[in-house]
Amino acid sequence: MILLDGKNTAADIRAGLKLRAATFEEKSGRRVGLAVVCIGDDPASMVYIRNKVKACEEVGISSILHLLPSDTAQEKAEELVEGLASDENVDGILVQLPLPHGLNERAVLSKIPPEKDVDGFSEYNIGLLSLNRSGTVACTPLGIMELLRRYGVEIAGKHAVVVGRSSIVGRPMAMLLLNADATVTVCHSKTMDLAAFTRTADILIVAAGRAHLITADMVKEGAVVVDVGTNRDANGRLCGDVDFEGVKERALMISPVPGGVGPMTIAMLLKNTVDAAERSLK
Ligand code: NDP
Repeated sequence: MILLDGKNTAADIRAGLKLRAATFEEKSGRRVGLAVVCIGDDPASMVYIRNKVKACEEVGISSILHLLPSDTAQEKAEELVEGLASDENVDGILVQLPLPHGLNERAVLSKIPPEKDVDGFSEYNIGLLSLNRSGTVACTPLGIMELLRRYGVEIAGKHAVVVGRSSIVGRPMAMLLLNADATVTVCHSKTMDLAAFTRTADILIVAAGRAHLITADMVKEGAVVVDVGTNRDANGRLCGDVDFEGVKERALMISPVPGGVGPMTIAMLLKNTVDAAERSLK
């Protein structure tokens, strides 16, 4: 079994981005800038944001954090994003989701111009992805593709099964695999007999948010298994959607949780931000 090591792969990617960020600073006279908007004080969001801000510092991206209270009005949230959209020092805008109840997420996201949409969540970028044209792609699926590429996983002609159909993971993941010439099946909570599909997967991507959903008997011998899930087990420890101990005996390659998809997601956020900055020079 080969471990799909996202931690080390991401460190390698960050080293390359550090050089690109330094070159950008030399050419433009300013640092690459990422604006992070966080509304409310959801503890999980705060952890993600801390990790993102730390990763930015490490590669020489300046991150500007905008923390707003959970009772922020819709117009105020939209105004903030509009201001960042026209700020020349801001290359990328990230709005940490989910937003507190009562705020219209889509309306806030729609204020991010496509060229600063480093999360790849805008309708424009999603449209480009579904047309197999180049645009900014959501960080988690993009990170998974990069992990597969670096481990030499062949995708064309393979059967890829994606468990989960959210707009930030499952759907863009399925599109990327389809664009890479896989035959793609997407499963979700209404799928009847999930195991019948997962057992036929050469490449199995699991993003359901259900601890230990995928057990060894649901995986084909020699499959490549990527676990996106981030859950807490009964002891409060971080765990994925895949029963790692059982599945590792059958899989050819498998990503761990933690240390798999998580660090790759952050590395791709940094990459999308540096890409956006470089585009602004042209
Ligand atoms: P969502 O809750 O938005 O989507 C979950 C998807 O899984 C839905 O499409 C749902 O189906 C499907 N699903 C749920 N239960 C089952 C089941 N029993 N069988 C089959 N399908 C099921 O989650 P996200 O896509 O945002 O995230 C998924 C997981 O990945 C979470 O654990 C999240 O924390 C993690 N994550 C990790 C990231 C990382 O960087 N490591 C980044 C983003 C997410 P339906 O549509 O029918 O409801």
